[in-house]
Amino acid sequence: MKNKKYLFIDIDDYHYENRIYQIDSDLYEQYITLLNESKNFKIDVDILRFSKLYGKFDYKISNLFKTIDKFVVYILNLKNLKFLNIHINYRNLLFALLIAEKVKNINKNIFIIFSGQYMKTLDFSEIKIVDYIDFVCTSKSCIQSFCKLNRSKFLKLNKVDTLEKIKFEYKVFDNINLLREVVNIKVGEGCLFNCHYCTFKNFYSRYHQMNFIEIIDIMNKYNLVYGTNRFIFNHELFICDNFKLKNFCYELINNKYIFKWSCSTRIEFLNFENINLLKNSGCDCLFIGLESGSKVTQKKMNKNIKIDNILYTIELLSKSNINAIFSFIYKYPTETREDLIETFKLMFKIKTIEIKNKKSIFMYELSKINFFPNTLITHKYYDRLNFDIYKNYDILYYPNEIVKFIENNKKIFTNYFNLSENISELYVRFNEFVLFIFKEYIYIYYNKVREIFEKYSYDILSLYAIILENYRDEVYEILDKNDNVNIDNDKNEKFNKLVNKIL
Ligand code: SF4
Repeated sequence: MKNKKYLFIDIDDYHYENRIYQIDSDLYEQYITLLNESKNFKIDVDILRFSKLYGKFDYKISNLFKTIDKFVVYILNLKNLKFLNIHINYRNLLFALLIAEKVKNINKNIFIIFSGQYMKTLDFSEIKIVDYIDFVCTSKSCIQSFCKLNRSKFLKLNKVDTLEKIKFEYKVFDNINLLREVVNIKVGEGCLFNCHYCTFKNFYSRYHQMNFIEIIDIMNKYNLVYGTNRFIFNHELFICDNFKLKNFCYELINNKYIFKWSCSTRIEFLNFENINLLKNSGCDCLFIGLESGSKVTQKKMNKNIKIDNILYTIELLSKSNINAIFSFIYKYPTETREDLIETFKLMFKIKTIEIKNKKSIFMYELSKINFFPNTLITHKYYDRLNFDIYKNYDILYYPNEIVKFIENNKKIFTNYFNLSENISELYVRFNEFVLFIFKEYIYIYYNKVREIFEKYSYDILSLYAIILENYRDEVYEILDKNDNVNIDNDKNEKFNKLVNKIL
């Protein structure tokens, strides 16, 4: 008799723009553990990535739901499929549910497992859709849930050798060149802070970080197998213990490693001494959440960054050649127009420092506040949250029944909802507009940016509202010409003409 099949599907890459790095480390961990143990169960374990089957065209919003149907047909045609494990996060939950429902409706004998840390944040009580999810697995190993399914005894797991894991990765990832170029390593989990909008507290109850010897050992192994010299450390708060950081950096410096690496930190953990160490040990990019330029909003968010002190640190950073991505949030529930102006002023000041010193490059991420399931702000405002038809561009094109499905399951889709004052067409492309100014236009027309910001008292939202009201087609045409790599002179010239009209 043929073995039963246990299939992991990676659908986080359903969107073309998500197709960058490796498979989510949780999913890979589960896959490799079960693969390693499969001889105990007589099952065939496999992994299937959405991107392996479909390209950019299939993702186009007009085709996406048809592509999901094709994907389901493909899955159902796999011989002896008994277990289907879908790794969940906030981006793919909707698509995972659609796939699970369709699979279950056609073949009730396939066990559906939803796995991943994100499941810890979701409350499925009162929600009917649980009918087609057989198991939820939030631990790193899906083996124990598999034992439950299979009515077998719980197993003591064999440890999977790191080198074997790494060697095997190219087969799964199916792109050896990308592994050569850059590798994402999960070096820890959890955070010591408790920002009211953040969902990480629900994922990890404690803060943990690998020791530096282990991290360097993994880097060495990737280097040995694939020749990789660039690493992204996956941990919400990598830099926080200066003693550990120093040991890590000195080890890299003293042994003359040529690795380049990047990580996340909070701005207050950076100082003159460790910025130099970071630079000398190969760190070339930092991800730093700033979120707001307003002291009041910092407190309300429980982010508590001391805004007055950060420009000094950013000045130091700007001379180090270490690039940084700073994230910002707007429309936090308590945020006033004045608070938001403080954020835009801060964004402009940081860019000014970068342009003056001409060494490090500072990039921005900007997003309207998200109400993720089970965060403190979601609990606080839950009753006031309405479906956000303008959450993103794509939603405008979702079929009605999908929109209804989201609306009817607010508890698990809270991030598709927002306060009524935050739901407006104004916000659909506002992020793109701000990022375009700070990513392109400011490099060519710095003085013009200063002039227009001053004229509008740094209220970029009002400035955008005026542009949208009077020159909507023109500005959308400019934003449509999205090129992540190059500065497009033609686009900037067009935008400059627009700016001249409203100056
Ligand atoms: S937003 Fe960042 S600093 Fe705040 S709790 Fe989340 S991970 Fe920690």
